[in-house]
Amino acid sequence: MINIIIAIDGFAGSGKSTTARLVANSLNYIYIDTGAMYRAVTLKWLRTETPLAEENVCKVLSDLDLELHQGATGQIVVMNGEDVSSQIRTLEVSNFVSPVSAYGCVREKMVEQQRQLGKEGGVVMDGRDIGSFVFPNAELKIFLTASVEERAKRRVRELEQKGMNESIESLIKNITERDYFDSHREISPLTKASDAIEIDTTFLTITQQCDKIIELAQNIIGE
Ligand code: C5P
Repeated sequence: MINIIIAIDGFAGSGKSTTARLVANSLNYIYIDTGAMYRAVTLKWLRTETPLAEENVCKVLSDLDLELHQGATGQIVVMNGEDVSSQIRTLEVSNFVSPVSAYGCVREKMVEQQRQLGKEGGVVMDGRDIGSFVFPNAELKIFLTASVEERAKRRVRELEQKGMNESIESLIKNITERDYFDSHREISPLTKASDAIEIDTTFLTITQQCDKIIELAQNIIGE
């Protein structure tokens, strides 16, 4: 059995993380949620209480130590020894993560770590630029889409499960703004790689979308 790289990119809340995790479980692959890495950087900078400026954000990278562990219901993010898996999901982090992720120093450091984590293959990595930039030679590239309303509803449910309550309106606003910002930034913007397979998940269940991707992966692995 060959260990391929599966890149799952797409807009905010399109179901990338859940899909990537379940596909990885099914194939016995490692799952890496790269959005969580950018969220951790954002949390670390927010804690400095300094203005949003490239210089202030770059500074927090010098002693940033990130560990990603596979938990039963999702990825566990440990930042400098502290489990920040829940704290990186707050709306405050969501509201700042796009500008923070656009800085060159942040992208450089995160992409380097992601390439290191995925170099042996056998990995499902979700994000915005995995198929287009981090692993342009990934054997399978998926681009997930869904309507903004559906994506916001999913985020509300996901946050509720984590004990956080946000209104649908605030999530629609956050998702729309992040999509715009992520697609228009200068360095490796969110874009569908030319060889990515687009899946609109608006009317699909998680099981249906996972089954589609697993089938595509098995076709390549079995070749
Ligand atoms: O996937 P998630 O919605 O948690 O990602 C949070 C943010 O991290 C995105 O809106 C984007 O700004 C940034 N991100 C990125 N590149 C990735 C993954 C996430 O810039 N590969």
